[in-house]
Amino acid sequence: RGMKRGIVIEDDWPGHSPDLFTYPEHYQEDIECVYIPNGVIMNRIERLARYVLDDFTENIMVLCVLKGGYKFCADLVEFIKILGRNSNTYLETRVEFIRLKSYVNDQSTEELHFMGSRDLSFLRGKSVLIVEAMVDTGKTMKALLKHVETFEPKMVKVAGLLVKRVPTMTEGLTDYVGFEIPNRFVVGYALDYNEYFRDLNHICVISGTGKMKYKI
Ligand code: 5GP
Repeated sequence: RGMKRGIVIEDDWPGHSPDLFTYPEHYQEDIECVYIPNGVIMNRIERLARYVLDDFTENIMVLCVLKGGYKFCADLVEFIKILGRNSNTYLETRVEFIRLKSYVNDQSTEELHFMGSRDLSFLRGKSVLIVEAMVDTGKTMKALLKHVETFEPKMVKVAGLLVKRVPTMTEGLTDYVGFEIPNRFVVGYALDYNEYFRDLNHICVISGTGKMKYKI
């Protein structure tokens, strides 16, 4: 199932020059390259929506992982609605949000830190679609899946827009992968660097200048 990897971006992909696209002026010096243009992101999400519609047969309980997942979630749900409308397989979507941290003081932990309620009992008996922008080591997703399962949903699928190619990569964790990317830090399309760059539409790599400028 090579399709499972999504669009594979190789390690030697240099990205596009930022000058070839438009982006907020305040990031002029801060972007090294445009890694994935917004248009390509949108086209891929449309395809992911098709996969979702092929798998789900009843109403979808979407669980959006904040903050990074908000744009992906909004666009994916929109495409699910559009495709459903066009193919007479309209499924009702309900969206719930969770905000979590798997890192405490720079340290990745096995424990999930919920910001807000841990109670996900609204998932009981439901067909759940977890929507997350970035799966890196997979620790966060593994812990979340374990937690979600305790509420006994009928079925759980995971959509990850970006999955990093890391040595510890867990195969099969993400059911719908947008892009498999090299182990580089990326921003944009709601992914941040210390809360900056969420307002950038393209997925980009930060420049040295940008890293210095927004360091805390
Ligand atoms: P994991 O538990 O899979 O190692 O980490 C997942 C989380 O790490 C993501 O939800 C995201 O917040 C953060 N993360 C990992 N890689 C990146 C990256 O390249 N860019 C940004 N902005 N966040 C990342």
